[in-house]
This record gives sequence, C-alpha cells and structure tokens, in this order.
Amino acid sequence: MSKRDYYLILSVERNASAAEIKKAFKRLAMKHHPDRNPDDKSAEGKFKEAKEAYEVLSDSQKRAAYDQFGHAGVDASMGGSGGFHAGAGGFSDVFGDVFGDIFGGGRSSENRAYRGADLRYQLELSLENAVRGTTVKISYPTTVICSSCDGSGAKSGSRPTSCPSCAGQGQVRIQQGFFSVQQTCPRCHGRGQIITDPCGACHGEGRVQENKTLSVKVPAGVDEGDRIRLTGEGEAGENGGPAGDLYVQIHIRPHPIFQRKDNDLYCEVPISFTTAALGGELEVPTLDGNVKLKIPSETQSEKQFRLRSKGVSPVRGGATGDLICKVALETPVNLNREQKELLREFERSMAENAPTHRPKTHSWLDGVKKFFDDLTG
Ligand SMILES: [Zn+2]
Ligand SMILES: [Zn+2]
Repeated sequence: MSKRDYYLILSVERNASAAEIKKAFKRLAMKHHPDRNPDDKSAEGKFKEAKEAYEVLSDSQKRAAYDQFGHAGVDASMGGSGGFHAGAGGFSDVFGDVFGDIFGGGRSSENRAYRGADLRYQLELSLENAVRGTTVKISYPTTVICSSCDGSGAKSGSRPTSCPSCAGQGQVRIQQGFFSVQQTCPRCHGRGQIITDPCGACHGEGRVQENKTLSVKVPAGVDEGDRIRLTGEGEAGENGGPAGDLYVQIHIRPHPIFQRKDNDLYCEVPISFTTAALGGELEVPTLDGNVKLKIPSETQSEKQFRLRSKGVSPVRGGATGDLICKVALETPVNLNREQKELLREFERSMAENAPTHRPKTHSWLDGVKKFFDDLTG
C-alpha cells in the first residue's frame, strides 16, 4: 500500500473537484497501464499507486477520512480481506470506469455496491476502569440505512422499476468503430433498476446521517493503544454493500499515583529518613485498596519494592503484573531551632565513626581524592 500522499500521486490540489481527480487519474492510467508498458515493473507500480489514490479520492467518504486522518483513516478498510469495495477487481475494473468515460457512456462509481466506511472512535478511560473493565456508552455520527425506504431509495409504496435502457441487465452493448463494447448501463449505473419516485427522507440515497449510540464493553486489562473492533457498527454500505466496522481506540488518562508499564504498575512512595534508617511499616496504595509494606532498616533512597501480583491482569490472558513501589527519601523542611540542634548533635555523634555510618559517602570521597592525585601525580 502506498504511503505517498494521494493528492501528490495524482498531482492535484487538495481541493480538487471529483472531475479533476478523475481526469488526473485517467491521464496517469493511460500512461502507466501495464498493457502499454509490458515488462515494466515501475509502470505497474505507478499504475497501482494511482489506482489506489483514485479509489480513495473518488469516494467522498474515503476522501473525507483520508483528509482527516491521512493513510490511517483509510488503511483499515484498504487492508481488510474484504477489500475496498465489494467486487473490486484488478486493472480492468477501474479501467472500465475510465473507458466508460472515453466512450461517452459515463459509468458512475457512485452506484456500485460499496462496503461502508470503517470508523474510529477515540475512547479515554481512567486507569482503574481500564484495569477492571467497564461498559461505556458512546455516541458518534455515522451513516445508516434509511428506515423510510429500507435503503431502496424509492418512496414508500413505490418500488424501483426495471431499467428500460438495459432491460434490467445493468449492461449495454455499444458500437465503437469496428468494436462492440459491453458497458455498464449509463441510465441505471449497472443496477438494472431505476428509481422513479425517490424517498423523501434520504433523497433516493438509501442512507441517512445519524448519531448512533452504543454500549461498548471494555474488557479488563486493556492498555493504551488497544483497539476494540465492533463488526458492522461502522457506516452502512451503499447499494447493498456490507457495513463497515467501528474501531474503538483506547487511551488511558494519566493517573496521579500509578504509571503502567506493560502489566506492572509503578508508584513512588515518600519516606522519612528516620523510617529509612530504622525501618518501619508503610501503607501503600494498590488498585484494590491499601496494603502494608515493610521497610527494612538502612533502606536507601530509590530502592524498589515489588509487590507480587498487585499489577494488571492482561486482557489477552497471562500472568498478573506486579506493583513496584520506589521509595523516595524526603528531606525534612521547616525545622525549628530545637530540631535543627538535635540534627547537629546527631551529626556530631556520627562524626566519631563516619566511615562506618556512611560507607557510600566515604568511598565516593576516596574516589574524588584518587582522581585529583592522578591529575597532579
Ligand atoms: Zn429513504
Ligand atoms: Zn439500465
């Protein structure tokens, strides 16, 4: 699939009309068509690229999705097994379009059976809801089958009638010089039927815009970037084509206490230097309430404590993650005169046997000293 800009491929402006896009594609298709460039791989590549760009930009909905989301907006529907639209074939299919035009017939691509567009919904969740699972009501604008005419496009009580130009065949033969060319019927655009009395609700389109509301069940354990696919909840298909899918993309709001990394949760726990030195017990939060965490004596800052299975149970199964608490030593602030004096006294008592109490400081000082000795020596 091409990652080049579709407008650049066709060399048209972003606000190009449907006619300009068609004309640009026709020019490229004539130039690069494999029949005209046998054994030329680069021509074939260019033809495919132009065809892909044309398929997106000639469809108003795909084009809107592309304008808004870029390739991501159309890739899901392009890459799917169902292909871009029902019955989409290789070169001949798109070329039928172009030749139809050249021979003056005008085969409108609007009236083929299209699969409805896929839609994407960005869903923000709290970390708690993502971990535990939840049901969320979402509402989004989409295109649905017109209920007044059940998608037929014909006014209720009337029916589409058999096309007189092609006798309901959808195809006609026209004489072009020596050739007889079979072509999609220009009057019914291949449907074999015409609507004489269009439905008022959808103006004969068979589809209408609507705000759809859905309950989405979010399984426990989903993470940032996960996608939930709701089959058939995208836009309704055109002319009997199947509906597209709705992709609900998960985003997790930042949490004030926890950070998630894979299935582990991380949190920072401030402790006093007294607790760090003497040891003690702390209450730490988990997603299921507080638990006690034993802090051993002589705990250094930044030390991590792992609470097994207090993390996240992954949505695709597997072992539950851990909660990792990192202690952060808090230097006391706003000390009064008496407290400061106590600390000075404490410091004096430490000085008597400093290397024993502060091995890290002393090995660091030794390192610094050696560094300067090496410089001067
Ligand atoms: Zn209708
Ligand atoms: Zn017809």
